[in-house]
Amino acid sequence: QRLKEGLSKTKKGITDRIDNVLKVYVKVDEELFEELEEILITSDIGVNTTMKIIEELRDRVKSKKITEGSGVREELKDIITEMLEGEEEKLKVDPSPAIILVVGVNGVGKTTTIGKLANKFKKEGKSVLLAAGDTFRAAAIDQLEIWANRVGVDIVKHSEGSDPGAVVYDAIKAAQSRKADILICDTAGRLHNKKNLMSELGKVFKIVEKEYENATREVLLVVDATTGQNAVQQAKVFKEAANITGIVLTKLDGTAKGGVVLAVKSELDVPVKLIGVGEKMEDLQEFNAKEFAKALFE
Ligand code: GDP
Repeated sequence: QRLKEGLSKTKKGITDRIDNVLKVYVKVDEELFEELEEILITSDIGVNTTMKIIEELRDRVKSKKITEGSGVREELKDIITEMLEGEEEKLKVDPSPAIILVVGVNGVGKTTTIGKLANKFKKEGKSVLLAAGDTFRAAAIDQLEIWANRVGVDIVKHSEGSDPGAVVYDAIKAAQSRKADILICDTAGRLHNKKNLMSELGKVFKIVEKEYENATREVLLVVDATTGQNAVQQAKVFKEAANITGIVLTKLDGTAKGGVVLAVKSELDVPVKLIGVGEKMEDLQEFNAKEFAKALFE
């Protein structure tokens, strides 16, 4: 239900427009395909992904001899569902201990996502520790601490301007001695240039490799769905700078551009593992292709 509410804008932007077009066109012809293509492209699904979808739709409509709009809608839904399902992969935090490094530029919802994740794990009965690895902004440390208190988990922090690597090192030692199930680390979100980003994240990754090599590891990139194709571009830069294992797409509730989920999946080859559909603690969900498509099309 939350998912449905969260995707209501995207549904308006994609599905309702598709339905309107299908109402107008009595014939399944080239013009109809062009209209559908236009809708998909303007929903930030991305040009390449749209082309793939439309081509597949043409093939299926032809081979199944579909002549009605409702049939086209069904095929479109199936194609999109299959595309999303193709790369579905769950967040991996077992066996414990696990460490999750959270990367992404400022403002995309990194802190909020960490708070929501901590809450989710705690509810599942796991012990969670946070690390305030974004030492460049005092506000980032404060914000994370507010979330830690709200959720009721411990946080390891140093003062502003200190070495992020040292924070992560201390956090790992604390997680080991307390036998914490999951350590979630914030990282700096400054994106001056790729080289800079690589060296900053690289230091943190080295420490994790050396000090916590037995831990189950995830590197989650958080991107903001409301930025549409920019989110895809950001993801490309981060993918080159770090070994991203999954993407968190936030603020899906605030945009009609939910189609970006498809663009991220098909253009980056990194699975979307979590989606943010609101500002509240419980508004973070594991990405499920079937449910996502269902929320859009039903
Ligand atoms: P950070 O700078 O990346 O750590 O970003 P924050 O976690 O501070 O989030 C920036 C803003 O986005 C805050 O106002 C959050 O409440 C908001 N936000 C984060 N995730 C979501 C989401 O899934 N939906 C909505 N509507 N807002 C979100």
